[in-house]
Amino acid sequence: METHSKTKLLETYILQPENRSLIITSILEAIENDNNNVFSYVNLAIEPKTNLNLSHLIVSIKDNISLKDIPLTAGTNILQSMIIPYTATAIKKLEDEGISIIGKTNLDEFAIGTLGDTSANGIVLNPLNSDYMVGGSSSGAAASVASDYCHVAIASDTGGSARIPAAMTGVLGFKPSYGSVSRYGLLSFSPSYDQISFISKNIDHIKETYLTCRGEDIEDMTSANHEDVSFRGHTIGVLKLKPSASISQEVIDNYNCYIDYLMELGFMISEMDIPNYEEIIAAYQVLTSAEAASNLSRFTGLNYGTNLGDLQKNRSSLLGYMVKDRIILGNYVLNFDDSQMLLKAETTKHILKAKFDKIFAEVDVLITPTTPLQPLMVNEISDNSHFFDLFTCIANLIGAPSLVFPYGKYHTSNLPMSIQIISPRFSDLCLLDFYKEIKY
Ligand code: GLN
Repeated sequence: METHSKTKLLETYILQPENRSLIITSILEAIENDNNNVFSYVNLAIEPKTNLNLSHLIVSIKDNISLKDIPLTAGTNILQSMIIPYTATAIKKLEDEGISIIGKTNLDEFAIGTLGDTSANGIVLNPLNSDYMVGGSSSGAAASVASDYCHVAIASDTGGSARIPAAMTGVLGFKPSYGSVSRYGLLSFSPSYDQISFISKNIDHIKETYLTCRGEDIEDMTSANHEDVSFRGHTIGVLKLKPSASISQEVIDNYNCYIDYLMELGFMISEMDIPNYEEIIAAYQVLTSAEAASNLSRFTGLNYGTNLGDLQKNRSSLLGYMVKDRIILGNYVLNFDDSQMLLKAETTKHILKAKFDKIFAEVDVLITPTTPLQPLMVNEISDNSHFFDLFTCIANLIGAPSLVFPYGKYHTSNLPMSIQIISPRFSDLCLLDFYKEIKY
């Protein structure tokens, strides 16, 4: 089935409540013929609803988020046979409003990764050009939206996982403020930075689903009801970027072009200075690895999931290389590190937060490129893949909301480029509305 007609299917789904079952059958058929490894579970029992606030929307759910009585694989071999006994709070709220769930989407193992190539369920291919990877870790989530299998993908984002694949498939990706949406039922690898996030082609659909999901949850003590912070949206902070191994000239040119467009629109542009991006990404890696080492230690295969007989065997043969890398780094910085990397990373985070307090005293929002380098081809080897999080991890480290949207194209691959907006913590709604003023 052509992408074009699938888009039409989603539009018709909204407009013709009486035909929803038939439309879903056509979408399920299209999914069945898809070879891009987008889904790890397809909900063949899906029953569309009518007359509730979100009955008009179909969503996919990233497979590190719990759905009652459905397997959760988190893209890892160690959890291949685990059925979950409860539904995540955010998803329960969506279900209560009548949303339809089409299936669970493939992801990098335990949501660790930037490319979409470490899942035990297979590499997710980019629906825009299957010679390329789709980005990760919410690879299937972004692909499910780009392929028009759903209106919104519910994903998660620790350092860019929802926003990076959204960028690489030319759609919108939104990571809310930390604490805005309950993480209960999200299999976190680094709970201080993870947030349930939203990917869609339509900003109004992101807003509707986000508004339904958010709010304090007794099951997650980091969640909170919050006042909506607002900003005027007159001044925009920008960065002066220089090409390096971690940022390509093409990305900088595209970013500068977008800044010119903002000036044409009449915004006040003000140059901000963030000292050392490589140091920020290093701090992110250290902090999240320490949490991953402790947080993933419960996956032994002995109590649930796959059990090959003993703990050592389970962990050595059922966990993938990327997850092992993080666990080893995390245990190292927690236990053996004389150079005090963890302390240095914490300090870098606090300096960054203080820096952003100053930035948001001067400008309403800051814009950056979303990814600093172009998407990789399938099986292309790169030592630089951790740099993909260079700009996105900033929002996680400071707890701020961030929205990414397509702007420009890469010359060689013709794949979309993307811009990120970061705004003050808890200004999520204002940010979603502001997007309409600055979109291209
Ligand atoms: N790519 C980042 C990492 O591997 C982000 C992952 C995420 O956001 N879940 O840590």
